[in-house]
Parts: sequence; structure tokens; C-alpha cells
Amino acid sequence: MMSTLAANPADVAKFELVVGMEVHAQVLTNSKMFCRCATDYQGAPPNTRTCPTCLALPGALPVINRAAVEATIRTGLALNCTINQTAVFARKNYTYPDLPKGYQISQYELPLCEHGYLEIDLEDGSTKRVRIRRVHLEEDTGRSVHEGGYSYIDLNRAGVPLMEIVTEADIHSPEEAYAYLTRLRATLRALGVNSGDMEKGALRCEPNISVRTLDQKARGEYGVKVEVKNLNSFRSVRNSIAYEMERQIKVIGSGGVVEQVNMGWDEDKQRTVLQRGKEDAHDYRYFPEPDLPPLRVSREEVARIAATLPELPAARRNRYEQTWGVRRIEANILTSEAQVARFFEEVVAAYGENDGKPQRVATWMTGELFRLLYADGEGQDLRQIATIKIQPAHFAALLKLIDDKVINQNTGKKVLETMYVTGDAPHSIVEREGLAMVSDTSVIDEAIAAIFAENAAELARYRAGEEKLFGFFMGQVMRATKGKADPAAAKARLAELIQG
Ligand SMILES: [Zn+2]
Repeated sequence: MMSTLAANPADVAKFELVVGMEVHAQVLTNSKMFCRCATDYQGAPPNTRTCPTCLALPGALPVINRAAVEATIRTGLALNCTINQTAVFARKNYTYPDLPKGYQISQYELPLCEHGYLEIDLEDGSTKRVRIRRVHLEEDTGRSVHEGGYSYIDLNRAGVPLMEIVTEADIHSPEEAYAYLTRLRATLRALGVNSGDMEKGALRCEPNISVRTLDQKARGEYGVKVEVKNLNSFRSVRNSIAYEMERQIKVIGSGGVVEQVNMGWDEDKQRTVLQRGKEDAHDYRYFPEPDLPPLRVSREEVARIAATLPELPAARRNRYEQTWGVRRIEANILTSEAQVARFFEEVVAAYGENDGKPQRVATWMTGELFRLLYADGEGQDLRQIATIKIQPAHFAALLKLIDDKVINQNTGKKVLETMYVTGDAPHSIVEREGLAMVSDTSVIDEAIAAIFAENAAELARYRAGEEKLFGFFMGQVMRATKGKADPAAAKARLAELIQG
């Protein structure tokens, strides 16, 4: 995929990748940031969610949306930030067709939240803190629509509240970037402040990517940053970082200089493409927004919001691991979406918290159930679990049927598939399809006798010392009983009878 680029591995070892991540997250509020217009612009007829304020008509004044401020404080608290007692909205001046005022109201010198961190899990099992430089509140822009040689402006999105979450340059591999974004999205969703829907533009990521030599690192210097814009999946973030790292190392390795530019990502070709140079790098001429007073946030207000924070994914993961003994790898997956965690906890409540039962649920969910989910849905959105036909109590009942040796493991997987399609209770399926396990030794003995008669040559070879044929006979027994034989009972009977 990226082999066309392949920098010399010896060169790669001489460099460190440095990535800072900017995430824009639309805040889930009913109304816009500075007016009463509704935020349900997706699919709405163009320019029907507008008013004098978000159309920037002369004399219209902005009013701060309290819900958006609270959501940003919630986010800041969850990201371990300091919540500033005074935040100031500022005008960021630039000209663009989808920006009717000619400036965006944002925050510059005094953002709402600063100096936080988010803990992420690395593949080697260790954890790492990615520092959060700031979380500030601003407004979204409108959208340009290009059609049939004409360009149109839709201002339904103009003024939708937007949080900007900026990290320090703490990310040093494509996998760390992926882990950071995954945990951040799970956190935002758990807080109920953002939908996390990248394909709808509700969450947008822009990595700043550079490489530096180890000498530069020792001197505290950084390389030239390239910003990648308009990425629409975490996978493309990860792939674009991997690509840029190799590209920049190759440029420097061949005596060239990395230019400070904005790039886009070509999903088909799996490579970055030049969007525009930084020659139009803006001087935004920020200044405090004269139409809005400084925002004062009292300690009491922050304490009140802090008291309403839900259990966050990292804490929940720790609880699964420490209280229930679930392995970290599964605990991370189960807490990546609130809907998955809810389903898991309901199954555990019905099945049991002791004797390794939660781990058994975790294994079955992340293995068998997710396989069915992935095969079914568009993409790999685990939140679909909220709408499947299987009841958590039925899932628990299935595991009990296996524990009680009513059915064996393999039959259990088939029953789960039927449950997934029909939503029926597992015991009804077992009864209806006659799947109960056969542990009646006379039935098993009968099957074995028939198999011996049909496979006399193999039997002779086994008795002559070819012991690996035991597996062959075991397979025949399971097949003859249509997979329903109790494997332990079948094995014991076969071991005895095969001796002759
Ligand atoms: Zn409006």
C-alpha cells in the first residue's frame, strides 16, 4: 500500500515522529451558539435554520448559549483540564464565502479549559498521557455547495456550537493517534456532548505532522509541520500520519526540505495530496469580541457540573478489569461505546459476577456476537448492538445452557446465530431444533459401533499404533450425533471402546 514510498528503515530509526492533534467537535445542543436557531441542519432545506444573527445582518447581536458552555466545561473536566474563571470570546478575522460575518467568534487568549490530559492505552499494555493544551468554544461555519457550474451557500450550519480540542505535540506513532482519537470519541459520547459521527462532520480531526532527528530532539527543536485536513475516519488519520512520516523522512534523507503546507488525503491512492501552501497563512487579527462580555465561570458552577459527570470509559474499563477480572484487551473494547458497555453489564447482571463469568461474557461478546454484528451492519459500528434482537438476559441464558451441559460450545454458537436472526430465547431454539446435548452413553456407544463397522481399516491401523487416528474417530462420533454429543462423554466412551 505504501511500498511506493518506503523510506530506508535505517533512516527511519534516526527520526522521531511528532504529531499534535486538533479535533473539532460539534456540541450536542438544541440551539446554535449565539442565537435560537435549531441545530438539526442535517437534511434540512438550505437556509431554513437561520436568523438575523447567524445571517450576520446589521445590528443583530449574539447571545451566549449556556448549554454549550456547560458541555465544554464537562468536556474540560473529563479531560482533566483547569477550567478558567474568565473566558473571553474573540473575533478570528478571515474572509470566506461560508462565513457571513467575515469573522468567526472563537476563543483565543483566554479559552474555557486548559492544561489537561487524556490517558490512552498502548499496544504493549502500558498507558500514556496525551496532554491537552486547550479546549475552547467557537461557532461552526456555513457550507458551500457546488453544483452544475454554480456555487451556493447554505448557512444552516453557520453558528452551530463547536469545541476545539487541541493536544500538545505528544503523539509519536500512527497507533498512538488512533488510540487517542478512539478514547476521545468514547469520552465525548459518554459525556453526551458530541455524537462522534465523523461521516456527518460532527467530529473532524486535523493532525499536525512533523519529524525530527534525534539531534534536533536533544536540542528541543522541532521539524516543519504539515497539516492534514478533511479526514473522515480514524483509519485515514492513522494512514495519513504513517504516509506523511515516511514521505518527510524520505525528503530529508535525500537532502530536501519539508515545506509547511496543508495536505488532503486521497483515500483511493492512500497518499497525501497538496491542498494549498501556507503562503496564504492568515494573520487572523484576533481581538476580544466587543458584542459579548467576558464569560465568568464560578467555582460553584464548576463543582455542580463536576457532580453530574458520568462514569467515563477509562474508569469503567478499570472497574471491569479490577472488580470483574476481565482482561484489559476486552475491557477496552467493551467500554469503547456506551451501548456495548450497557449490553455487557446487563448480561453480567443476569449471568453472574463471580467465577470468571464476566470474562466468559466478554469472550463471547467480543468473539461470537461481534462477528455477527460485523457481518451484518454497514461498516463496523458497534453501537448497532443497541438495536439487535438478542436480549441481554437471553445471552446470559445461552451461556448457562452451555455451563449446564445442555448444549455444547459449538451448538451454542449456532444457537446464538439463530437468536441473532429471530430474537428467540435459547431454550426454545434448543427444544425446537432438538439440539440438546447427547450424554446418554448407550446412544454414543451405538454410534461408535456403527463407525467402527464402517471404518474397519482405520480401526486396524489405530490398533496397530497409529494413534493420531483417534481424532478422526472423534470427528466421526460428533458428526454421527450431529454435533450434539457431550464431547467429554464421547471422548471417554471412544477411548474405552477403541481398545477392543
Ligand atoms: Zn440564527
